[in-house]
Amino acid sequence: MKMQAAVMTAVSNPLEIREVDLAEPKANEVLVKIKATAVCHSDLNTLIDPTTPIPQVLGHEGAGVVVAIGPNVTTCAPGDEVALSWVPYCGTCAFCRAGKVNLCESAFGPMFAGTLLDGTSRLSMDGGPCYHMSLLSTFAEYTVVPEMSCVRMPKGMDMVSASMIGCGVATGYGAAVRAAKVTAGSSVAVFGIGGVGINAIQGARIAGAAEIIACDIKDDNLETAKKFGATHVVNSREVADPVEEIRQLTEGLGVEYAIDCTGSTAVGRMAWLSARKGATVVVIGAYPADAELKLPAGGFHRLGKILRGSFYGDVNPFDDFPKIARLYMEGRYDLDSLVIKRIRLADINEAFDAFHDPTAKNTGRYIVVFD
Ligand SMILES: [Zn+2]
Ligand SMILES: [Zn+2]
Repeated sequence: MKMQAAVMTAVSNPLEIREVDLAEPKANEVLVKIKATAVCHSDLNTLIDPTTPIPQVLGHEGAGVVVAIGPNVTTCAPGDEVALSWVPYCGTCAFCRAGKVNLCESAFGPMFAGTLLDGTSRLSMDGGPCYHMSLLSTFAEYTVVPEMSCVRMPKGMDMVSASMIGCGVATGYGAAVRAAKVTAGSSVAVFGIGGVGINAIQGARIAGAAEIIACDIKDDNLETAKKFGATHVVNSREVADPVEEIRQLTEGLGVEYAIDCTGSTAVGRMAWLSARKGATVVVIGAYPADAELKLPAGGFHRLGKILRGSFYGDVNPFDDFPKIARLYMEGRYDLDSLVIKRIRLADINEAFDAFHDPTAKNTGRYIVVFD
């Protein structure tokens, strides 16, 4: 079929709204009509990356309705409303067998090649090849995606809200609920209040944390954090010693859970030092490939602390996405306040321009809404 899509045609250029051809879903694939798609910083990272196969239809946060299914699809049917996951898992590898489906590597080869799981593309443009982003390519009226990317939403779930679940929301929520396993009545510090951090705050709140300390360098983000459940805020640029500040808020002990969403090893060190003995420290932000994390090692064994990384918030999309949707529908999880602005596909570059504006809010999302 022919459809409109926002296409990356050259590195760092504005996306072009073009007519793109979309082939039928093959085995274990699903044709989805996109209802809403959120614009994430990872879309910008893909746009400025010279290794991105082009032309490519960007977009990896979306929700829509199943229109058709390919052979062997059993988990969804036409008419189902779904939120999309960019980490479809195989179910049979060593990681999947161990229950760590977020660590399944089956999607990464195709992801970097810009194809679907079988190594081929369903997209073409002007008679030539066109590539998929993160197996989803949601900046389009329709998309063909792996069955394991389609997570059925509860009946009545709002599609704009659902469109955000599959990336920053799940990652942040999962960092607190799945990776850190925050317990009721506990103390939590979240470092870096962006699209992931704001949801780590919400995850900690849902888990029943009594004390949630948001740490960031922007007062704007810290004010937003309070609306989402932070009980205390620390502007690490304005206080002399953020670690000391956090200790003072926790009877001199430090927090029981620290979550670093920044991608900065200097902040990772801060998170480690802010955590008390026996605490769990989760690194969810991506450190640069060649970075080294330096921590004081003397007496390390006596601290009994756990330092762990988490990819995709340790979530299982089929378990956690519907849970987040139900929490939203019960009024317990705020997705509405994450929407910065609803725009049309034709105006999608406005969302990319906002990434370059240092004063723009970075906790929420521009959402492209289709009629
Ligand atoms: Zn994203
Ligand atoms: Zn697997």
